[in-house]
Amino acid sequence: LNNERLQKVIAHSGITSRRKAEQLIVEGRVKVNGKVVKTLGTKVNRNDQIEVDSVPIEKESHVYYLVYKPRTYISSVKDDKGRKVVTELVPDLDKRVYPIGRLDYNTSGLILLTNDGEFAQLLMHPRHEIDKVYVAKVKGIPSKSALTLLRKGIQSKGEVLKAKSVRILSATKQKNTAVVEVTLNEGKNRQVRRMFEEIDFPIVKLKRERYSFLDLTGLQAGDYRELTKEEVHKLK
Ligand code: URA
Repeated sequence: LNNERLQKVIAHSGITSRRKAEQLIVEGRVKVNGKVVKTLGTKVNRNDQIEVDSVPIEKESHVYYLVYKPRTYISSVKDDKGRKVVTELVPDLDKRVYPIGRLDYNTSGLILLTNDGEFAQLLMHPRHEIDKVYVAKVKGIPSKSALTLLRKGIQSKGEVLKAKSVRILSATKQKNTAVVEVTLNEGKNRQVRRMFEEIDFPIVKLKRERYSFLDLTGLQAGDYRELTKEEVHKLK
């Protein structure tokens, strides 16, 4: 809640619609920090005290969800091609949440949803260096030296893509596939897929298993749960 239009903040508090909120303002029934404000579009911030008929409004509370995104969902709030979106996985949401970062359409795994913009910005900031752990099934069995390239950083379309750590979890010679665990601190577009394309071991399946200390324990694809207060606090 920062630099938001007054009528929007009133509407989001749940007491009325945007239209009615505008009416309340025009009618002189809204105070900001104790003073009547009749100008529509007045910008307000988190610390502003807003009252309607001298009753303080409840600001929209923040919500935080951990979602196990299945494949074939878009990490977005809506899709113009009509594909399913991750926010649908949390039913009866009366708040507008959006994903923190992205997983590809064909990637499954852990993604966080929130309506707390500051929190989302904080977690996505590169300085935060959150561990994101992926398990990738790849075609072929990468050599040690190929995996070393990923740890050192590999060029892809003018960017350097770097893994914090990479290790082979299993491999089968008959099927010529390997399962590799990759930990990233960055989150560049399609990063894991691009890294493995660069070393010529294309990914056939990709899942995010962990985000910081959070994992998917107890959840099936399509499930979600709320984060606890402690978890939210610990992520910051
Ligand atoms: N890296 C990818 O290539 N895809 C994802 O969805 C996440 C990380």
